[in-house]
Amino acid sequence: MIGLLLVSHSARLAAATEALVRQMTGDRLRLALAAGSGADGAELGTDASAILAQLEALSDCEAIIVLMDMGSAVLSAEMARDLADEALRAKIHLSPAPFVEGAMAAGVAAAAGLALDLVLAEAVSGLAQKQAALGSARADEAPMVGEVTRRAVIADPHGLHLRPAAALVKCGAAFKAEIRLRYNGCCARGDSLTALMALGARGGAEVIIEAAGPDAQQAAEALRHLLEQPAATSLELTAATVPSGPVSLSPGLAAGRLFVVRRERMVISDARVTDRAAARRRLDQAVAAARAALKGTPILEAQAMLLDDPTILANAWARIANDGQNEAAAWDAAIAQEVALYGRLDDPYLRERARDIREVGDLVLRELLGGAPAGIAWPDEDVIVLVDNLTSAEAASMKPNVLGVLDTGGSPTSHATILLRAAGVPALGRVMLERIPRMIAFDGATGAIHLDPDAPTLARMSHVPQILSGVSAITLGDGTALELWANVSGERDAAAAARAGAYGIGLARTEILFLDRTEAPGEDEQAGRIAAMIAPFKGRPVVIRVLDAGADKPVPFLQLAPENNPALGVRGIRALLRNRDFFAAHLRAILRAGMDHDVRIMVPMVSVAAEMQAVRALLRDVAAALGLAVPPLGAMIEVPAAAIRVQDLVEQTDFFSIGTNDLSQYVFAAERGHPAMPDMVASNPAAILDLCAGILARAGGRPVSVCGEAAGDARMARRLVQIGLRRLSMGAARLEGIRRTDFTVGVE
Ligand code: PEP
Ligand code: MG
Repeated sequence: MIGLLLVSHSARLAAATEALVRQMTGDRLRLALAAGSGADGAELGTDASAILAQLEALSDCEAIIVLMDMGSAVLSAEMARDLADEALRAKIHLSPAPFVEGAMAAGVAAAAGLALDLVLAEAVSGLAQKQAALGSARADEAPMVGEVTRRAVIADPHGLHLRPAAALVKCGAAFKAEIRLRYNGCCARGDSLTALMALGARGGAEVIIEAAGPDAQQAAEALRHLLEQPAATSLELTAATVPSGPVSLSPGLAAGRLFVVRRERMVISDARVTDRAAARRRLDQAVAAARAALKGTPILEAQAMLLDDPTILANAWARIANDGQNEAAAWDAAIAQEVALYGRLDDPYLRERARDIREVGDLVLRELLGGAPAGIAWPDEDVIVLVDNLTSAEAASMKPNVLGVLDTGGSPTSHATILLRAAGVPALGRVMLERIPRMIAFDGATGAIHLDPDAPTLARMSHVPQILSGVSAITLGDGTALELWANVSGERDAAAAARAGAYGIGLARTEILFLDRTEAPGEDEQAGRIAAMIAPFKGRPVVIRVLDAGADKPVPFLQLAPENNPALGVRGIRALLRNRDFFAAHLRAILRAGMDHDVRIMVPMVSVAAEMQAVRALLRDVAAALGLAVPPLGAMIEVPAAAIRVQDLVEQTDFFSIGTNDLSQYVFAAERGHPAMPDMVASNPAAILDLCAGILARAGGRPVSVCGEAAGDARMARRLVQIGLRRLSMGAARLEGIRRTDFTVGVE
């Protein structure tokens, strides 16, 4: 504990200062006073022996910071220090900070448990807040060289108050990087508690973290993590306790040149303009162009309306007209102000709108700054990519020359990860590199990473085929066959799954074909793409899942309304049944594509029998109109209600497939992509396995498979087999691992 000693000419000034400090710290601070002179301290003056007595009273503190008001207070404090014995003297730090502000800043920092150098620095910068407010200090500093930026939405509902700010300072102190936080046009040093608190960032506000230095990336990532932690844990988190990576996302070895994916903010110059009318014209044109780009798609048209919001535009115009700001800087500042406004609202739904405003703002900025592409520009050569939270659309658009993925975030059951696994692309999550190397090699199973590896390591870890050909079924000890099916999401991984010898396609994810589409694909296009995907499986069974839109699988063209909690909203079959025309065309496309195949159709996110009944009725009509037979119709079991009452579905359903990814999410009440809860199932697999056993028992003899990620995980697969499952469907890259699994060994 660091102690504080206030040395003042006036006992009343010292007492009043103490009262101010204690308002912030309560009793969590050791603080003593040595003030006034004379018998009862009533006279103005300072007394070295009284100061020494108070220093001795604080001698059990690890350090004592002395704040003095002026003149002879400093002399008396120096004298008291000289009179102190050697051990005590070593603990005394006379601070040059202003008396009241310094006491406040140092007191708050000491009570928050910051280290001595940080508390001393806090005291000295005690005036910064006042200086910034009165314009005598620059609130906005120049960009740092080589900086890394991250956006974070403050999770603590009370915002960046004392404890989260202190946790931030402590976390930042563990890194060498220089750190800053920007919010609402203001900038705070990451090592200044008072400056961080003075930002006034509330819960839900989006702040920008900037870091520069050797470990900038790790620092920025750790701070983002910290700010986005819910309040209860944020108090305790430090750099050391931020979940440490890496974690395995997709197995396999990869080696090659590193390509760092940057989706950072566009660089906006702060140059002033002379022709203000021309700047305003350029802004108006960019806004019009952005509006035109959003036209035609209702969900995006709602975003376009934000561009008509007079407050944003008027704010930007005023910045150009009054301050001569250039159009990009003016627009960016106006958007930031609006985002901050929404960020302060209590309603989480309204706070989410801040994201829409930011997106629309970026669209206009791209028009102004040369129309940089929205997606990632994948390089043409073979690379390993380092990315911050790969999205499913990005994973789906990735080219075959991506040899491996290192994600600073990532989650084992996110859609992006599933796609990587299906395509046999090795990947690690929660990766923090000490530096950015030119070449890199890693093992997607063990998490081993080699920066700039030597030639033998490079050779050893390169060109290892992830997808090996093998048997499509394993004969188990009891003589039954364990069928190994494949999950596919497109032509590329279907071809790989066929080469790998999969029994059939156990899950074809149709939505992945259309993830980035803002306009609905027509029936012919759908039929063509689905036919191309299943072509390699001619003669083998193919289970095509109807479009599973919503939550972690955004399908823009379906125009699902924004929801507070999309995972519990209109998604999967609920969305399709509310878009009947599209659904009918979709079913027609599947039937046409599957005419020469052994096709089965599967329905995602089924909760109740009425949904299956509605699908069957529609399928019957569609098939009759095409003059085709009705194919087998299956239900995915991934909603707890369906898992518990699977017997209610039997009449309408020809087969079942257990989606352990969503089922786990709902059973554990833990979002499947949540980076802080990747291991919930591992902590109690029986919760899922018991449900699976129940499903099997109540499925009325219908075939039951598992197509969630658990099927491709050797430990879980052994348990699933043990409870009686004989059909597992997984990404092609995982087939070999399951083939090598010893299913005769008892499960631990
Ligand atoms: C599942 O939820 O387990 C599943 C297989 O479906 P998806 O991962 O596509 O949601
Ligand atoms: Mg699912």
